[in-house]
Amino acid sequence: MSPSAAAAPPAKSYSIASIPADGIGTEVVEAAITVLKTLSETLGTFAIDFTHFDWSSETYKKTGKYIPDGGLDELKKHDAILFGAVGAPDVPDHISLWSLRLAICQTFQQYANVRPTKVFRGTQSPLRNCKAGDLDWVIVRENSEGEYAGQGGRSHRGQPWETATEVAMFTRHGVERIMRFAFETARSRPLKLLTIVTKSNAQRNGMVLWDEVAAEVAKEFPDVTTDKMLVDAMTCRMVLKPESIDTIVATNLQADILSDLAAALAGSIGIAPTSNLDPTRKNPSMFEPIHGSAFDITGKGIANPVATFWTSAEMLAWLGEHDASEKLLDVVERVCEKGIVTADLGGTAKTVDVTNAVCEEIRSLYGESK
Ligand code: ATP
Repeated sequence: MSPSAAAAPPAKSYSIASIPADGIGTEVVEAAITVLKTLSETLGTFAIDFTHFDWSSETYKKTGKYIPDGGLDELKKHDAILFGAVGAPDVPDHISLWSLRLAICQTFQQYANVRPTKVFRGTQSPLRNCKAGDLDWVIVRENSEGEYAGQGGRSHRGQPWETATEVAMFTRHGVERIMRFAFETARSRPLKLLTIVTKSNAQRNGMVLWDEVAAEVAKEFPDVTTDKMLVDAMTCRMVLKPESIDTIVATNLQADILSDLAAALAGSIGIAPTSNLDPTRKNPSMFEPIHGSAFDITGKGIANPVATFWTSAEMLAWLGEHDASEKLLDVVERVCEKGIVTADLGGTAKTVDVTNAVCEEIRSLYGESK
């Protein structure tokens, strides 16, 4: 070892909790771990290790629990969480979602759900007139309350007059913190443009508070331009004028729907990443692909791992490894440009082919002889 190498400060080391969970979640998380380890070994600028948590629908069926007692305390010890997907054909979706993914998001106050979307080099939007660069958005989704607050209940069970309520809850604190986060995100982007999505014409309480708080927070960000759109009109604008949009903030349910549309407009749900952030950094944040467990393609080896690679790049950026994050995303786009893509993007590559191609590209660009 040369003296200068000996004197180099030790690379920062990150401890990541991996929860692959169900369906193609296990396939894409395995692929992402391979890529992240290759990146860390090749760049040598950071170290990363993974602790595997076997929290899944299989575990639930065996033990009656997705998360064992004390599990969240264990999870909290890690710097970040890499999540796959939850959902199984023989477990009701509301049980799997609330018992695993939402249990983590809500306990760890991961109130900002960030969903970037763009058309990758080498891929195509289904929109005929969408040129490279036209579609480059970040959707900020309120991730702790709104329509998914868990408020409501069921009465008169089994009777013909059975009743169920699902109450959307908006708190001033919750809206203020997501608006501030969204404005900061918009400020960090070249257009400094934030579209505030609402439905305050029909929903005259929670959504009116949403609009009022947005207008108040906007005063703190005079350099950010804002516009306001009803969620229904927003779907038309996303399809017809993608270039007019930059950063979007919307409620838990609205943004959930808009981001699936965004992913499809960018080419495939198989490339879309998402970050569940606790911006206070008191708790670890969680990174996952937008897609679900996709039973129709589970076990076939054809799941697109790109969403989980992009989500891994987002995780690295959140941990402070901006250079490694940019390099990883660039490498993934280079591989797409070479046409090494899975069937959802019109190619013939398998999950393992894309993974190997990304690892080879990392080594060829940043390996020792470079
Ligand atoms: P959820 O209801 O939790 O969102 P899901 O599995 O029902 O999950 P999506 O994840 O939205 O549905 O996916 C819809 C379909 O898109 C899948 O059934 C699958 O055919 C396809 N798909 C999703 N993710 C991928 C991927 N990574 N690679 C290839 N195809 C995918």
